[in-house]
Amino acid sequence: MTASTTLDWTSYHNTINGQAAKTAKTRHGINPATEEALPEVPVAGQDDVDAAVEAARAAFPAWSKTSWDEREALLNKLVDAVEANQAGFVDMIVKETGKGVSTAGMEFASTIKFGRALAALRVEDKVLVDSAEMTGTLRHVSLGVGAAIVPWNWPLLLCTIKITSGLITGNCVIVKPSPFTPYSNLKLVELASGIFPPGVIQALSGGDDLGPMLTEHPDIDKVSFTGSSFTGKKVMASCARTLKRVTLELGGNDVAIVCDDADLAKAVPTVATMAFLGSGQICMDIKRIYVHEKVYEPFKAALIDFAKSIKMGNPEDPTTLVGPIQNAMQYGKVQEMFSEIKKQGWNAIVGGELDARTVQPKGYYMHPTIIDNPPEESRIVQEEPFGPIVPLLKWSDEEDVLARANVSKMGLGGSVWSKDTERAVRLAQRLECGTSWVNCHFHLDPNVPFGGAKSSGLGRELGVTGLEGWMEPQSLWVSKA
Ligand code: NAD
Repeated sequence: MTASTTLDWTSYHNTINGQAAKTAKTRHGINPATEEALPEVPVAGQDDVDAAVEAARAAFPAWSKTSWDEREALLNKLVDAVEANQAGFVDMIVKETGKGVSTAGMEFASTIKFGRALAALRVEDKVLVDSAEMTGTLRHVSLGVGAAIVPWNWPLLLCTIKITSGLITGNCVIVKPSPFTPYSNLKLVELASGIFPPGVIQALSGGDDLGPMLTEHPDIDKVSFTGSSFTGKKVMASCARTLKRVTLELGGNDVAIVCDDADLAKAVPTVATMAFLGSGQICMDIKRIYVHEKVYEPFKAALIDFAKSIKMGNPEDPTTLVGPIQNAMQYGKVQEMFSEIKKQGWNAIVGGELDARTVQPKGYYMHPTIIDNPPEESRIVQEEPFGPIVPLLKWSDEEDVLARANVSKMGLGGSVWSKDTERAVRLAQRLECGTSWVNCHFHLDPNVPFGGAKSSGLGRELGVTGLEGWMEPQSLWVSKA
């Protein structure tokens, strides 16, 4: 396999010890836009997990001794190979996730950017004590074998972040894609298997029982997990039994706090886009919009206009922002949230219909929906709906809005919108979350750590901090005597 390898998107296999590995049993994903079956994929079992772990353990001693520069060179080869297959990856991301082709293009471009930039980072030794008698140096060593457990919403980008972070730090990585979106992940590792030594990077696709087989395995040292807070807690409990290192990137209930002096012409389109991007199925989408009472009505009017212009429908159409919900189970959960509109008497100022099949007869579609000023304690404010429905809420007092934002158990991100940057920064610093933005939301960079406070996660991905999560700190004392 070389950088110019053209992938075959009709046939899929696991990768174990550098070899294509089929399984007796297979299953398939569903295209959420059409409800049609996607190609068959393997269903890995305990024997496959054991074989992959054994191969990774055998590969680790030599791989961890390679230099950072050698590892970066191989990772860049992988990025080149992915880039050469852009059309196939984007097409498959659209088919397996249901996200619009322009959002899939964004995921692909971020994959290339983050893949290269993370591979260029280095975790340097730090001399912390240098006295006449001693030097005390903080260094970091590779952990061993890591499992990368990936969700269904941004499969290619999130998998790339995990494998790049794991491999550049000298670890071996076993990828477990979401059963809903195994396709782009299996192809990514298929490309990688032609570039890296056997056992260094492997992929196992399977059913719901596969994740626990990895988190329980005594010879896995690290689990890098992205998914729901519910599953994240189970992962942490399972990892605790063998004291595995664990990074958890979990759900969010991000706020946007719009101040009375915000530039509404700029804030409204960005806030609305960041509420509905990916059909609301992104951890750091805006899920609660708090608008100062003085500008509530003009903000609402502009938001309604903008939201009505948002295109919902076929993800293959480049102008679509809101594609289908990714899977039938999630569709059921989002429909349940929509059914509360009538039951609770919420005022849907845009959308609100329970079923979008009148527009699209097939596929898991829901209309973009905005709920006007529901009670603070309502489910739509307190829970992560993970669908295209967002509450608009009123505030008048800074302390009060901060308390309402921070009462959430979630703490992934939040943004403050004001022309007075000093005021906005002061408020943003008081949000209890892993990432605070001012006059923007969603901005990420491979050099800047990302992760959640409270129930939104543990540890960080990205930046040198993210790489350190794949390493064990070692303090080295050297006597000068
Ligand atoms: P999920 O928790 O259902 O599944 C995530 C992954 O965990 C899948 O690969 C799944 O097969 C696996 N899994 C399921 N049960 C497991 C178990 N007991 N042990 C080990 N692995 C197990 O999440 P999802 O529905 O795929 O993703 C949506 C959630 O992910 C949302 O809550 C979203 O906010 C969150 N998310 C967070 C981030 C972030 O960076 N913080 C990014 C994307 C998504």
